[in-house]
Amino acid sequence: MAWPEDGDGQRGVVVMNAAGSARLRPGEPDEVLAGRNPVADQDPMAFLPYGSEVADPSPPNERNAYPYAAERLLSVFADPARSPDLVVVHTPRHYFPELGGHRGEHGSLDVIQSRAPLLLSGPGVRVDGMVADHARLRDIGPTLAWLAGVDPSPSHGRLSDAHGEPLDGVVLDRLVGRGARWVVGILWDGAHCGDLLDQAAAGRLPNVARLLSRGGALTGGAVAEFPSLTLANHTSILTGAAVGRHGVLGNLFLDRTTGRRIDANDSTTWHRWPEWARRDVPTVFEQVAAVRPDALTACVNEPADRGAGYSTMQLIRQSGTGDGSVALAHLMPDAAASPYLGNRAHLADDYYTWATRADDVGLQQVLGLWESAAAAPALMWWASAVTDAGHHAGGPRSAIARDSLADSDRRLGAFLDRLDALGVADDVVVLLTADHGFEAADPGRTGGWDQPLRAAGLEFDDIGPGFIYLGAMGGGNT
Ligand SMILES: [Zn+2]
Repeated sequence: MAWPEDGDGQRGVVVMNAAGSARLRPGEPDEVLAGRNPVADQDPMAFLPYGSEVADPSPPNERNAYPYAAERLLSVFADPARSPDLVVVHTPRHYFPELGGHRGEHGSLDVIQSRAPLLLSGPGVRVDGMVADHARLRDIGPTLAWLAGVDPSPSHGRLSDAHGEPLDGVVLDRLVGRGARWVVGILWDGAHCGDLLDQAAAGRLPNVARLLSRGGALTGGAVAEFPSLTLANHTSILTGAAVGRHGVLGNLFLDRTTGRRIDANDSTTWHRWPEWARRDVPTVFEQVAAVRPDALTACVNEPADRGAGYSTMQLIRQSGTGDGSVALAHLMPDAAASPYLGNRAHLADDYYTWATRADDVGLQQVLGLWESAAAAPALMWWASAVTDAGHHAGGPRSAIARDSLADSDRRLGAFLDRLDALGVADDVVVLLTADHGFEAADPGRTGGWDQPLRAAGLEFDDIGPGFIYLGAMGGGNT
């Protein structure tokens, strides 16, 4: 459990579990209040090399690590209208199907659920092969914007928000230099960092290997913001801002100013992201448009699209239907006919089927945008979903998770073939990442906190799950 605490003129956060508690403040040593510090190990490179993660999957709290714990937790409590009073996260082994949990899950503060891959490929890349290092997901957007021509502020050295204040993410100029004519960011939702690199090394992801042959990857990947959930991190990636600043605190959260709960991560509502993200935090597309108004930017199958010249979600909004899944349905090809689907048996999983169709539409858009070099976007962001479906269904290293990586690899191959056919592969810099990691649950490890808390007489809303808002709440969904 974690909650904010003000004291000595500085905001901190208290973390507690059955074994002890501690007070955390960014930049200061943790202060143990009782027992042992539940987040004593904060090493972002924990469980590396990958064999150590495989040998101790979904570890209990006392063997786990929680990178940037103070900073990441504090940000969740930074939004006066939307922050919960308390957050509760389970160990990675916890299984909660009654609240929507799957065999594979993410959302926690711990290092593996927070570790997304980060591959860099193409001209200017300074990473050669596998490098024992890590970055943050919030660094990706500022890096893409900088590669596409946006300069950091000379006064504070970072990209700026609408008030001129520095964004949280930094430009990763230690990993890549400018010079590419085209900039491409690719997100494979929930793709597992260690297994992605392992499968590529084993020859099972030939197109990831093509990317790696022109650059490399960080074995520690990029650390997600907390919670390690989809929409919170898509927004941090594409704005460079921490969650308490961009306002998309999770997939589900409450807005106290309206009393409504916001369900941001759903195929029926994903196009409504601009209603929820704070306007004073610009997207990479707005950053690039401000300095290169004539440059085309493109945002494929991604909710965090404000300011993009081409955007899938904008097409959905313009279609006039309020339901994003209906608006896209007529465009979506039959999943069983997908040339990128490796194993038709996975179509027994509804999410895998939907993601296959959405990702095929995504690739169609990408190939349409890259019909010719003359018309290609200066900056393109391309999000894919089937990797999230595969990892939820079976957990990392399962057959279905690995097949979802292979399906995405085939779509990546179609794009790389197009770059080769246009003769521009040496002029395109590509960053490939994800929005969070994954760990496998233990179906025997069940239970929750709701019933004991209600039995103790507390009135609260548990949203997410794990975002707890004290007091009775009115309103409905929005
Ligand atoms: Zn995700």
